[in-house]
Amino acid sequence: METILFIAHTEIDGTLAKSALDALSAATATSASLAAGLVVGLIGENTQSAANQIALCGASKFLAVNGADFSQARYASDAAASEALAKAAGATIIIAPATSRANRALPGVAQRLGGRADTHAAGLGVTDGKLSVTRWYYRQRMEAVVQRTTRPWIILVEAGSQPTWLGAAGTAVVETVAVVLPDSSKRTTVTGIRSPAADAQTIRPDADLLFVTGAGWTKKQADGQTHVKEAEEIIVGFLKKTRASLGSSKSLVDLGGEGEAVLPFLTHLNQVGQTGATPRHPKGLSTCCHGEEPHTVGWRFINERRAISLDPNCGWARGKADVLYVADAFAVMKKVNEMA
Ligand SMILES: Cc1cc2nc3c(=O)[nH]c(=O)nc-3n(C[C@H](O)[C@H](O)[C@H](O)COP(=O)(O)OP(=O)(O)OC[C@H]3O[C@@H](n4cnc5c(N)ncnc54)[C@H](O)[C@@H]3O)c2cc1C
Repeated sequence: METILFIAHTEIDGTLAKSALDALSAATATSASLAAGLVVGLIGENTQSAANQIALCGASKFLAVNGADFSQARYASDAAASEALAKAAGATIIIAPATSRANRALPGVAQRLGGRADTHAAGLGVTDGKLSVTRWYYRQRMEAVVQRTTRPWIILVEAGSQPTWLGAAGTAVVETVAVVLPDSSKRTTVTGIRSPAADAQTIRPDADLLFVTGAGWTKKQADGQTHVKEAEEIIVGFLKKTRASLGSSKSLVDLGGEGEAVLPFLTHLNQVGQTGATPRHPKGLSTCCHGEEPHTVGWRFINERRAISLDPNCGWARGKADVLYVADAFAVMKKVNEMA
């Protein structure tokens, strides 16, 4: 019989992030479908509140590696803690969130345990008592279904690909797994975290809405002039009000390199499409963008799509959007901002 171990690290405030709760729902569903035991393994400075947060997830045991040495991301300590948890649990399947921290450490743990690891898993399913993992290749254009006989099998689950575990909190009895780190495993220390101010951080994977800007925002408008400053005010105003995530077409983010008037808050990290990102949001609104295939392929995981373009024959009109408003995005978004 399989034993499933859910591994997660705590956040700075001692709780589990949404990405961990997404992976937990995959672990609980897989344990139910395989009739397999479920063990929780937590890593952090003090994991009790995280364990309490998921106390009612159905796990038979809560294991933890605690201590200041395990509070921050570091390959050596994360790998040692995960290896100890896997051994203590007797795990055959290990499910963890695909955070940068886990993605870095867990493939190495698979190597130490003689197992295998699959990263970027977007789906888990059980057929005829066999677990399959789905993941995308080649810029999200080919989907592979993977089954493995090698154990332990480590599966890193993409954030947002699973429903978030929403169970109630309780009180968990946590068993500590002792890990003593040699000095050679403590050479790396995190001295601080630098991140953009909240308003400058326009990529928000957890947002309900993806707001996409296209090159039309910087093109000459009906009066023969460009209105880049006004475009900036409208877009930034909308993002401030809605906390939507900001995406862009390639043409618009490329303009900076071509010396044209640009929207300063856009970088290639915002680019959606074949050579950009494939974000996951329940809804998407495209503005001043033509909706060509190399762009819209990045919309694959956006469930409900709307677009505003002046061109009634644009790509959005050809089946790429659920709703196309043939309208001036400056006028529409100004009105939307007034109403928001
Ligand atoms: C190999 C390859 C990879 C590529 N990868 C990507 C990728 O990853 N991502 C990507 O985005 N592109 C990619 N492209 C480029 C892609 O094919 C398009 O050129 C690009 O997406 C077009 O961007 P756009 O729609 O913003 O600009 P344009 O094609 O210039 O369209 C601007 C649109 O704005 C509209 N408009 C103008 N003013 C207004 C207004 N006031 N109100 C409403 N609408 C208005 C116009 O009607 C027009 O439809 C790739 C191309 C290739 C060949």
